[in-house]
Amino acid sequence: MPETLARDDVHELKFRDPVKARALTAAIERVLDEIGRDRVSVMHVCGSHEQSIAKFGLRSALPRRLSVIMGPGCPVCVTDMPEVDEAVALALDGKVVATYGDMLKVPGTAMSLAEAEAQGGRVEVVYSASQAIDLARGTDDEVVFFASGFETTAVATAAVVLEEDMPANFSVLSAHKYIPPVMEIVAEMPGTNVEGFLAAGHAATITGSAIFERFVERHGIPVVVAGFEPLDILAGLLKLVELIRDGSAAVANTFPRCVTAEGNLVAQERLWRVFRATGGNWRGIAHVPNGNLRLRDEFAGVDARRRFAIDLTPLWGHAPTTLLQSCICGDIMAGVAAPTDCDLFGKECLPGNPVGACMVSNEGTCKIWHQYGGHPEL
Ligand code: SF4
Repeated sequence: MPETLARDDVHELKFRDPVKARALTAAIERVLDEIGRDRVSVMHVCGSHEQSIAKFGLRSALPRRLSVIMGPGCPVCVTDMPEVDEAVALALDGKVVATYGDMLKVPGTAMSLAEAEAQGGRVEVVYSASQAIDLARGTDDEVVFFASGFETTAVATAAVVLEEDMPANFSVLSAHKYIPPVMEIVAEMPGTNVEGFLAAGHAATITGSAIFERFVERHGIPVVVAGFEPLDILAGLLKLVELIRDGSAAVANTFPRCVTAEGNLVAQERLWRVFRATGGNWRGIAHVPNGNLRLRDEFAGVDARRRFAIDLTPLWGHAPTTLLQSCICGDIMAGVAAPTDCDLFGKECLPGNPVGACMVSNEGTCKIWHQYGGHPEL
């Protein structure tokens, strides 16, 4: 081992071996030959998968007849406008709104949090839920943590809500989303034709791979849990096309170094002690039954929605801009369009000047595609 190569680098390179990557793509090609169709479509539901696919050029290495569609895997992108409006209203009302940096430029009905800050609203960027609680400990002002993310991030929010010495001026505005229910919606959407799902390895470390078994039974579509290194994704895709070839609606775990069937039971207990799943809109996609995570009644005291009278009427007098009305982000996350289908992509809509949420977040497909070349053969 060269002295300059640290142990972590070796671990990383092990999953980026080009010889193994070529062997996996050749194996995928052979399975597609056996399937014998012009097109096989699978979907991933994770912005981190899209990041890896684009960064390592995996789509260009895969057979063209394998369509790897990006789904609703960006929690910031699916945060609904009224949820942003609530955070904007609280910031303009003098509360300190603490949130992840990705949320700042996400458009609300009248404005984003960044625009609210420019109008005198109080917004602080934090990198974790515990940093938001530290912020509250350092002030007498009301601090509202505008919490976004899927179940993995919601566990961290649950942990701070359960802290025994939580400051009295801290509350949570939850925009957390729960991934399994939206897979049900996307699987039934006309036009997606998804034959298999690549599930996100990090979320499955919490929920376990077995959580997908009921979905597989109901929809007859296989699910493969995969990690995020290039070989993880290729191995996951190989397993997925094998299951499709065999007509086997099953759950497979190709990320066993991190994911077990039952998942992290301690984290699950915390998650469901604090949150309940309830129906709500996912921006641009649909109303998703049980797709939103909201604080349980026992935690009403830290629930910003119940603690403050949030008046949205001043914001709802504004219509979204004409440009925003042209945004097809919802279609992209539903898997029926690609960023290049949007007339604004790379023109009026850019990472520095985003029109829609998919160009804001690092997990947004439009931003990822723009960052890595902006064409479908990424
Ligand atoms: Fe929306 Fe911009 Fe993506 Fe077009 S390029 S779909 S406007 S985020």
